[in-house]
Amino acid sequence: MDDLQFGTRNKRGDYAPNEPAGTAPLFVWPPRPLALIKWLPSYFLPYNALFFLSALAWWAWVVPPVAVMQTLAWGWVLKLFAVNVVAVIVWYGAFEVQLYIRRRQGNRFKYNGKFPADAPSDVFWFKSQNIDNFLRGMLSGLPIWTAFQVGVLWAYANEIGPWVSFADHPIWLVVLALIVPVIHEVHFFLIHRIIHTPLLYKWVHSVHHNSVNPSPWSSLSMHPVEHFAYFATILYHLVLPSNPILALYQLHYAGFGAVPGHVGFDRIEIGEDRALESHAYIHYLHHKHFEVNYGDGLIPLDRWFGTFHDGSKDGQARMNARYQAKKARLNAKKETSA
Ligand SMILES: [Zn+2]
Ligand SMILES: [Zn+2]
Repeated sequence: MDDLQFGTRNKRGDYAPNEPAGTAPLFVWPPRPLALIKWLPSYFLPYNALFFLSALAWWAWVVPPVAVMQTLAWGWVLKLFAVNVVAVIVWYGAFEVQLYIRRRQGNRFKYNGKFPADAPSDVFWFKSQNIDNFLRGMLSGLPIWTAFQVGVLWAYANEIGPWVSFADHPIWLVVLALIVPVIHEVHFFLIHRIIHTPLLYKWVHSVHHNSVNPSPWSSLSMHPVEHFAYFATILYHLVLPSNPILALYQLHYAGFGAVPGHVGFDRIEIGEDRALESHAYIHYLHHKHFEVNYGDGLIPLDRWFGTFHDGSKDGQARMNARYQAKKARLNAKKETSA
């Protein structure tokens, strides 16, 4: 496919789509009903439907009977861990193999023209972004992911947390299923904002930001403290009346859903003349510019807080003005304290 029909490439080989990044037409004033109807299918397909189905599959085939989960035992815990590891390798690996190892579409639609494997760097373990990112996901990401999963399932099995059934409260549970992505967005925005404060950024979040040119394995490349805060999103399901399937969906939304934002390509080609939009641009711009786009754009939180960057020249100018103002504020503070 000719990606230059949809965007431009600069001298360095970096691609930028013509269409600025947009936030979902939710919570906008005045309401935009037509845009909302047009946008709605993308709320479900393909990712959210896939993550919900994966939660159902886990509940049906992976999670043991409730009586077993009342007691913590290595058998079922290790089985969950092993299945999570395999699922992550298959799901993340599918993007990695096609786009980064086989490089099936070269750098067409690729935001950063270079591939991480071609740029060894001292900031990474073994100087390799891929090895570093993969190991961080496996060594702390997946154990913490599984620990939250096990803890919440154990709690449900022991009647801690308001477990309600689909038979008794179908409407509430459908509403809750629909707002799982909203819960994720608000939780992620909050923790992300907090770990961008100077001290926590230095100690915790800079690990994730080492990947300025993110690829699929970057999704779970975090400091363990960030893994902990990130996967804690499942805990809302011990406070709200919920159900283990929706709790699993919340966790899968975080764990499997991190990939699309780090895929590094604006569109993923399917066949000769079709391509799936990745919606990765908002988070790519966060990795590139750091202090913009703390959220993923489902709710216009960054617009409300003045930190949204849509990738356009205007967006760039707004960001630069904000950085200048911040610098001036810091300098004024220094002068008064001196
Ligand atoms: Zn990221
Ligand atoms: Zn960040």
